[in-house]
Amino acid sequence: MFPDLKYSVADFRLLADNAPVGIFLTTVDGQWRYANEALAHMLEFDSPRELMRESALERYHQPGARAALLERLHNGEQVRNAELELRTRNGAVRTVLSSMNLEGDRITGMMIDVTDRKQAEVERVALLKQLAQERALLAEVLQQMPLGVGIATAPKGTLILGNAQLETIWRHPMIPADTIAGYDVYHGFHLDGRPLLPEEWPLARAIRTGEVVSPELIAFERGDGSHGLMEMRAAPVRDDMGTVVAGVVTFDDVTARERAARDQQFLSEASALLASSLDYDATLTRVARLSVPRLADWCLVHMVDTDGIARIVAFEHADPRQHELRNDLEQWYTLAPGAPSHIAQVLRSGKPILISEIREEHLAATAVDEQHLAALHKLGMRSGLIVPLIVQQTCVGALTLIVAESGRSYDSTDLALAEEVALRAAQAITHARLYAAEQQAHAEAEAAVRLRDEFLSVASHELQTPLTAMLGTVQLIQQRDSRENMLSERDRRSFAMVAAQSRRLQRLIANLLDVTRLTAGRLTLQLGSIDLGELVSRLVDELRLITTQHQIELDLPETPLILSGDMLRLEQVVANLLQNAIKYSPYGGVVKVQVEQRGAEAVLKVTDQGIGIPAAALPNLFTRYYRAPNTATARISGLGIGLFVVKEIVEAHGGTVSVSSDEGYGSCFTVTLPQG
Ligand code: ADP
Repeated sequence: MFPDLKYSVADFRLLADNAPVGIFLTTVDGQWRYANEALAHMLEFDSPRELMRESALERYHQPGARAALLERLHNGEQVRNAELELRTRNGAVRTVLSSMNLEGDRITGMMIDVTDRKQAEVERVALLKQLAQERALLAEVLQQMPLGVGIATAPKGTLILGNAQLETIWRHPMIPADTIAGYDVYHGFHLDGRPLLPEEWPLARAIRTGEVVSPELIAFERGDGSHGLMEMRAAPVRDDMGTVVAGVVTFDDVTARERAARDQQFLSEASALLASSLDYDATLTRVARLSVPRLADWCLVHMVDTDGIARIVAFEHADPRQHELRNDLEQWYTLAPGAPSHIAQVLRSGKPILISEIREEHLAATAVDEQHLAALHKLGMRSGLIVPLIVQQTCVGALTLIVAESGRSYDSTDLALAEEVALRAAQAITHARLYAAEQQAHAEAEAAVRLRDEFLSVASHELQTPLTAMLGTVQLIQQRDSRENMLSERDRRSFAMVAAQSRRLQRLIANLLDVTRLTAGRLTLQLGSIDLGELVSRLVDELRLITTQHQIELDLPETPLILSGDMLRLEQVVANLLQNAIKYSPYGGVVKVQVEQRGAEAVLKVTDQGIGIPAAALPNLFTRYYRAPNTATARISGLGIGLFVVKEIVEAHGGTVSVSSDEGYGSCFTVTLPQG
């Protein structure tokens, strides 16, 4: 076989026994002739001998695999690195690469176990697949993100990815840039208007310095030339070593959001300012001031006067040097109702006008003559807004906002904001007007009260003089009668009646006089020692002379109830309460008068069965000129000053007066007076 063989079979045997690959020799029908250690081990047998105890056919896992191999060998093919699956002693399956030769009926061959490699390969393929899937997912997420996303590699800053939203926000396709310097194809600005340098873009900063850029507002010019605001974030992507390998930027167009927030802020400031003044002119001046420069380069407020002519009441210009413009404007924009101007049109219709771009024809339509037109040209108006000020469904004025130098142009959002401002201004005007009307009404009411007080004071003085003379005369007659007994019993009763009624009248007049005195705080007490029981009993006797309809019950303490007080004033208190009890019981009934001592206080209670007092009227009862509504229903007249006087006198004595009542069933007035 090997004619010039220098090595013995034993040498080969040794080599085969120790080879790290499986080596075997079998017959075609599956009988082992030789197997080495490595093969036995590969197939989980303790030794080649054990392996060789079983047929080699047993080891094939795939049915027909061995037959196919044999066929190839028989066809004279060399089998090299054929992949086979073999079954181990323990039933596990190993994948091997096998090379075989057929000689006569003997097959020699070797095998390498590639199960682990194969497994690793399968895993690698699966991993790659998973990776591809994840990549696709990520790419999809990036595309679907509502934010614009851009990725650039470090250190050059080559833009490698931009999602669809990037294009939507910029309104142009992603412009490739190989280096950071190339970012200048994107037009960004600082908020103060300075252009953003390429290396100032957040993505550039993340790549160059590893900076994590938290939300930053950047102004930008879109592909269609319009301007907006974006909020940008950026972060570096680092490798295992911490080296920046890429940068990611995300951004969102926040133009609308920022504008809404600014408008809201503006509106709340406007509301606060407008609400803080009730002065009409100041309100309108504030509106104008507020609007410039945030809403306009200059602003006019017109108000329609009572003569129907709209005049400029406030003017504000962003450039203070232009303030003299007001005179010119007043000349042209004092508007008669039929004037051709847009402002007059708004005042007539109550509908706003928005002119996004003021063109020649707009100027020509409002100019009254050549000189006016020339002046209008000089004003350089670019865009304008006129909104009505509507108070109680009537257009009372207009707010005009003009853009000139700043070059902005108004849109419907500006119009909505201006309308909101006008609404709030109109509310402020309404409040200012109501306040002014209220002030006037208040002043008028006060003047009326003063007039009434003055009249009462004069009238009561005038009444008092003849009444005193009359009462004096009656008393003289009564005194003469008591000496000379000259009157008939009937006349005597009549004179007593005249005297009682005169005294009643006197007290009424005293009340009137007191009202003015009390309001001026001029009540002085002349204190003396008084027996309250005696005082009350005297006035009850007098009252009995006046009424026959009422039954007056008097309940006095057994011993005198002495207190320190002003006799005439306390008489006024008791008389007022007694007379009210009679007056407000038009159908008669019992009037109960109680005097008692309670601790260190004297208490007087007057209870009647009259019309009573509505609960709602109780808190106002002691107010000057107040009368409960049920007095009108019952047709009982009065001035509404008696109880006011009672309260003032009682309180001047350090006492209290209170009332309880059940409307329709009667009232009870309680006076307490300290005895000390
Ligand atoms: P006047 O009786 O002249 O109206 P007063 O100051 O004495 O004024 O009383 C004020 C109001 O209190 C009265 O108008 C009436 O409504 C109510 N009032 C006073 N006393 C009584 C009473 N005894 N019963 C019912 N209402 C009373």
